[in-house]
Amino acid sequence: MIDRSTYHAWHGITPMGEFLAESDPDMFLVGGDGSYAVDQAGRRYLDARSSMWNVTLGYSCEPVKAAMRRQLDELPSGTVMRYEHPPRVTVRYAAALAATLPPTLRHIRFGNTGSQMTEAAGMLSRFHRRMTGETGRDRIIAVHGSYHGTGPLATALTGEQILHEWSAPLDDRVVHVAGGDELLDAVAGVVDRLGASQVTAVIVEPVMGNYLHAASVDQLAAVIGYCRARDIHIVADEVTTGAGRVGAMTVSERLPEPPDMIVLGKGVSAGYFPLAVLAVADPIYDALAEPPFRLGFPNGSTTDGHPLGAAAGLAVLDILTADGFLDGVRDRGRQLCDILRDTLADDPHVGDVRGEGMLLGLELRYRDDGTPWTVRDVYRLRLACRDNGLLTSYSDGVMPLLPPLTISTDECAELAAILGKTITAYAAEHLGAR
Ligand code: PMP
Repeated sequence: MIDRSTYHAWHGITPMGEFLAESDPDMFLVGGDGSYAVDQAGRRYLDARSSMWNVTLGYSCEPVKAAMRRQLDELPSGTVMRYEHPPRVTVRYAAALAATLPPTLRHIRFGNTGSQMTEAAGMLSRFHRRMTGETGRDRIIAVHGSYHGTGPLATALTGEQILHEWSAPLDDRVVHVAGGDELLDAVAGVVDRLGASQVTAVIVEPVMGNYLHAASVDQLAAVIGYCRARDIHIVADEVTTGAGRVGAMTVSERLPEPPDMIVLGKGVSAGYFPLAVLAVADPIYDALAEPPFRLGFPNGSTTDGHPLGAAAGLAVLDILTADGFLDGVRDRGRQLCDILRDTLADDPHVGDVRGEGMLLGLELRYRDDGTPWTVRDVYRLRLACRDNGLLTSYSDGVMPLLPPLTISTDECAELAAILGKTITAYAAEHLGAR
């Protein structure tokens, strides 16, 4: 229990009353070490959520820390906003990052958050239309259940009706469609209804972070083909899936034709600096970068292209692109799945483990009727896991497991063991015959 009168931070989406009632000042984090976060009381938690899915290389990644320390001594601040002196390290980082992305996506815009960059993607798509004489082309198609961040456009893109109602008025030119195997038909349905000349972009998460549902590569490829034939921009939101999480730089690299824009965040700096990027394809850049558009795309913030973020990003790239690293993530992800399946095989509440790399989801089902656990039960299981030294996320019917990409085999076994015993105890105490 935390005293409300002495606690002044107000956290993101967290209901503060609940947080204050369920927490204790001892739980404030003060340190970290590999896959473990350490709190004020000295308790160590195996962090199977990588903080907010972003601490992909654990808490003591020396090469990233060293690069940031060096950068702090050399040039501690800088910007790419309205300035002809970009930090050299930022220019180097843009080139190094572009070299890891599909070859047409060579233009890197910098920001601090995924939300900032999904909004930038939508606005850039519309700006491109304005500048090329297609003024009315402003509709964006997004997917039900998706998450693209906060802000008037990012929230509008996010496919959660309740968030739209709570935050209204938002951008009203977004249309939501079904995802998964229905994506192509659903996009085509909207384009037929509105006319392609109204639709500027489609934004998709290759794996929906909210429910951990993946769109198949075939489905994504078909949507890209469909959109390209109609000059509709495709934006891949890879804030969660990118930068190594699925054992690849991006899911987009597996597609026969790349998207027009890719948003990356979270893992690009391994969470050591607020950094997100928007990679943009040649035709959009080429249409906007040269005169007569003297003003350029009117979008950006003071700390965009910050040298500390670029230094962190370069050091992260060195690790991700080292021989065998990403293959290793896929192998360890399979190993973690196997360990979870073995350890939890006899638990009647556990369904399958789905996902790839270190983007996994453990399905939880009530044993009496096989229906998915409510988000409330998964949330309370998460608190019980925390009390047993394991940090996880929660979602509807599924417990997302996104540990650092560097988690060891022993830590995978520890993760599965804590989960197993916690599910058993939680079910016995709270679920009765369910
Ligand atoms: N897009 C996706 C797919 C995300 O997972 C997130 C963050 N969870 C965002 C956008 C927003 O990123 P941020 O929280 O950095 O604003």
